[in-house]
Amino acid sequence: MGAERIGDRYGRELRDLRISLTDRCNLRCVYCMPREVFGTDHVFLPKDRLLTFDQIERIARVAVAGGVRKLRLTGGEPLLRPGVVSLVERLAALRQPDGAPIDIALTTNATGLSRLAAPLKDAGLSRVTVSLDSLDPETFARISDTKLPLSRVLDGIDAARAVGFPVKINTVVRRGFNDEELEAIAERFRGTGVAVRFIEYMDVGATNGWRLDDMVPSAEVVERIGRRHPLKPVGQRGSATASRWEYVDGSGEIGVISSVTEPFCGSCTRARVSADGRLFTCLFASDGIDLRPAVDDGDEAVADALFGTWRTRDDRYSELRGAQTMERPRPRVEMSFIGG
Ligand code: SAM
Ligand code: SF4
Ligand code: SF4
Repeated sequence: MGAERIGDRYGRELRDLRISLTDRCNLRCVYCMPREVFGTDHVFLPKDRLLTFDQIERIARVAVAGGVRKLRLTGGEPLLRPGVVSLVERLAALRQPDGAPIDIALTTNATGLSRLAAPLKDAGLSRVTVSLDSLDPETFARISDTKLPLSRVLDGIDAARAVGFPVKINTVVRRGFNDEELEAIAERFRGTGVAVRFIEYMDVGATNGWRLDDMVPSAEVVERIGRRHPLKPVGQRGSATASRWEYVDGSGEIGVISSVTEPFCGSCTRARVSADGRLFTCLFASDGIDLRPAVDDGDEAVADALFGTWRTRDDRYSELRGAQTMERPRPRVEMSFIGG
């Protein structure tokens, strides 16, 4: 399985696979799973539609053999998937063609991390990204639409750090919701070794009523935080989504993910697999291709489906985003389905 199999129409290689373990979540963040849509009537995937761990492992193994270096487990809330620790253990045993280990990351709301951080570390998870949009208990409750206390998330972050995980925080910045807190969130983690990445609120999915005015441009985030503690850019972004800024006084760094104001489709090396086994080659895709028939047929069939689809990919939604896409949006998969 040579590297020539994996360049897409723009020559981008598949390096990063995001695997959703469930479409369920114990929070109802208003911009991701608004309760009006994801309420008691919402029908989630039945258990028998979820990829099994054997199926996930097969897809991951084939992907890694073809050049994928990083797996990210996401959801919904991935820690709700029973047995997640044993899945991590299986994935951590995979090796790149040169024998090198792969990077296994987790994106989580952290409400289950106090309990699971240590077993996940033992299982071989490499790193943790925690989504946290507010440090104010009331704002947290309002944005996450939950009765679970903010302390549960903060304890989860502490637990992850205590067992030695590199931890990043993802903060989606939304005007009028949490943008007043930017400086406070940066300050809370400055000097702790935890990098906060501020994410421009995106027009993903079709349920969150996104408006351009809700989005706070990354340039404003960097300017505001830098006013308190001067920042300087760190190197080139490469294929990473975040552009990194470090505090001039050496007290750490922040990142900004500017998918609206500075799209990075040109270096997009990511594909996503939904919990029911559909492959999406863009966060803004309308539909994905069902990998399950190929999974039943064996590794070669999975390789053909995965890399065959990748080869024909020409996605660059964020670069093309404009008045037309915003006024007449195509149907788009929900973020809670493919996990960001
Ligand atoms: N439940 C896990 C969590 O919250 O970390 C994993 C899944 S969640 C869909 C992944 C990430 O997507 C979270 O960091 C969340 O904040 C982000 N997200 C969801 N909707 C978004 C939007 N409209 N714009 C930007 N980021 C969004
Ligand atoms: Fe759940 Fe994560 Fe979406 Fe919030 S952002 S509703 S925690 S999946
Ligand atoms: Fe990649 Fe699509 Fe996002 Fe562009 S819009 S960076 S192609 S996922």
